[in-house]
Parts: sequence; structure tokens; C-alpha cells
Amino acid sequence: MDDACAVCAEPLGWVAYGTCGHREVCSACVARLRFVLRDQRCCICMTHCPAVFATKALGDRTKVISDFSALPAVAGEGKVGEYWYHEGTQVWFDDVENYRTVRAMCQISCTVCKDNTSNNGKKGGSKASKAKHKKKIGSIEQLKTHLFDQHHLYMCDLCLDGRKVLSCEQKLYTRSQLNKHIKNGDPDVDGSKFERRGFVGHPMCEFCKIPFYGKNELYTHVTREHYSCHICQRQQRGQDYFMNYDELEMHFRSDHFFCEDRECLEKKFIVFQSEPELKRHNTVEHRERKPHAKRTATFKVSSSHNCEILGRGSGNHVASVLAPLRSSSGQASQAGQSSGTNRVVQQSYSSLLSRQEVSGARILWL
Ligand SMILES: [Zn+2]
Ligand SMILES: [Zn+2]
Ligand SMILES: [Zn+2]
Ligand SMILES: [Zn+2]
Ligand SMILES: [Zn+2]
Ligand SMILES: [Zn+2]
Ligand SMILES: [Zn+2]
Repeated sequence: MDDACAVCAEPLGWVAYGTCGHREVCSACVARLRFVLRDQRCCICMTHCPAVFATKALGDRTKVISDFSALPAVAGEGKVGEYWYHEGTQVWFDDVENYRTVRAMCQISCTVCKDNTSNNGKKGGSKASKAKHKKKIGSIEQLKTHLFDQHHLYMCDLCLDGRKVLSCEQKLYTRSQLNKHIKNGDPDVDGSKFERRGFVGHPMCEFCKIPFYGKNELYTHVTREHYSCHICQRQQRGQDYFMNYDELEMHFRSDHFFCEDRECLEKKFIVFQSEPELKRHNTVEHRERKPHAKRTATFKVSSSHNCEILGRGSGNHVASVLAPLRSSSGQASQAGQSSGTNRVVQQSYSSLLSRQEVSGARILWL
């Protein structure tokens, strides 16, 4: 047998398939998809397969289940008739060892203790060491506590959420290895640059100094928690992010035409691309009052306000990866658009008001 799994490319020992009958993916990969991602579709044809059957991969002689409806509709964990059923993945097995392997893969357990136990087992085993770790680990939180208390090891929380693998496949780090892993990738645990497949550490929000799992997660954070200038965006001047609205306001003052009227300051985002636009705004909105808004040279923004969000170690990749996202309908552009729309709405609303005030005044005068 020299077939390889279509997902992990490992030699195909045990295969799992559903009603569509595609026998190209190993039972471990099928179990991982069904257990971690709760995805019950066939990896080859995307057919939704509520139940799948796992058996030894024997090429043309692989056992074929032609009628999945013949399998019991409701089954509990363990032996059911001639098969074994794993509830967590909804996989049927015709081999108890393969069933046990997949069940163990899906259990939350300490891989360090498991390795020790199996090594001890070969040497005859010490009952005391087995008993010591017999206490069942019921959750990821308990596993994290156990790893720290017993082995002084950590899992990366970002990888726990972001890397879609089973908990037993999560990597374990010492404190210093974890720091290296987050910053640039740890050569001891994460492997060589080639083995890491482009992983150069988790990208960091330079404002909050918080790392995120990947560029998409960082982008989501930055567009939700920080501000960008809709005018610069419209002019395609590139996109800088600002820590908060106060810093964006400083930018409006220094680079654009910002209305300093108290009410406009409260409304926020009342800023214009050109002087004539600001003058028009003043005439329409503030004609009874003194024109306040002037492009002031006194508010020079220091370069520190133009912080870029590039993650450490990831160079310009973030920028280039984010660029197409931004130009589509990213959050940032939506924010820009909506603030623009608000402004138009506010303008017409207040000019409406001023007309009503005038007519109201007339009525009073009559
Ligand atoms: Zn596989
Ligand atoms: Zn299929
Ligand atoms: Zn342990
Ligand atoms: Zn990580
Ligand atoms: Zn941030
Ligand atoms: Zn701007
Ligand atoms: Zn104004």
C-alpha cells in the first residue's frame, strides 16, 4: 500500500468515508475535522456526511459500506453490534484499536504524562507514577494548570484558539520558548524556518502591545479598536491607523480642514478634504456664528502618531496582505463611509432645522 492521505500526505493506514464513498482521507484527519472544526463534509466532494465509517485502507479491497442507513441511527459511545462508535466525531469503526486511537486523540489529556506512562510501560512501569497522574483532566483550563504545575510547560493561548488541531497536537513550551514562539517562532519547538511554513511569530498590535494569532485577527482588531482617516483613504494616501479618536482628531487638524465648532467637535468626524468644502460647511451650518474653523498650523502631529500597525518580524507583509482587504469592504472603509454619510445627513438635517427655526420665528412675529 503506497496510497497517501489527501489531507496530511501520510501513508494511508486507516481510511474514513461517508455516503459519497471517497476513500482518500485517513481516519485521524477525518476525526480532526469533525471534532475540532465540527465540519462533517467530505474533504473531497464537500458532501455532508452525518456518519462516516473507518476501516483499514486496502486499496481496491478496502471494506465498502454501501448502505449507511443500515448503521444504527442512534448509538452510544463504544461497542454497538459488530462496530465501535465514537460519539464525539460520529465515526463508526470496524477495528477496536483504531477506535481507541481516535478516541484518545480527541480526549483532553497530558501528552507528557502519556509519553512517560508508555515509556514506563515498556520498562515494566511504576504504579506510583501512573497513579500520580491518574486524575482525569476534564477541560483545557485543567490541562493548562496541570502542564504548569507538573511539568512547568505552557501551551500558546493564541495557537489554542487559532490553530485548528486537537489539544494533544498543540505544542508545549517553556516560558522562554513561549516568548520566542510569540515573537519570532521558537526553533526548538516550532522547528526550522522551513518546518514552520512561514510562521514568524504572532503579529502584534503596536498600539496595545498585544499579539494576535494571525494577520486576519490583527486586522480585525485594528479596524474595530483603532481609527483610520476616511479622507486619506478616499485620496488613496495609504492607510495609517490611530490609537484613538483623539489622535485621529490631531491628524484631521494637521492634514485636513477640520471644523472646530463645539457642536461639530462633539459630533466627531466633521472634517473636509478642501478649504472650499469647509467654507461651505461654515456657511450652511454656522452662518449665525463666527467662523471658527481654520486650518491651523499649531497642531503639528508628531511622527509617533503615524504609527503603523505592522507586526514585529512580519515586515511589510501585513501591509501587503491588508491592502486588498482594505480596498474591498473592510470595516475601516465602512467606518469612513458611514461617517461621511452621517455628515451629509447631519448637514441636511441641521439646514432643515434652521429653516424651521426661521419659519417658526416668522410665526412668532406674526
Ligand atoms: Zn491524514
Ligand atoms: Zn466525497
Ligand atoms: Zn502531565
Ligand atoms: Zn502560538
Ligand atoms: Zn490595538
Ligand atoms: Zn487623513
Ligand atoms: Zn462645523
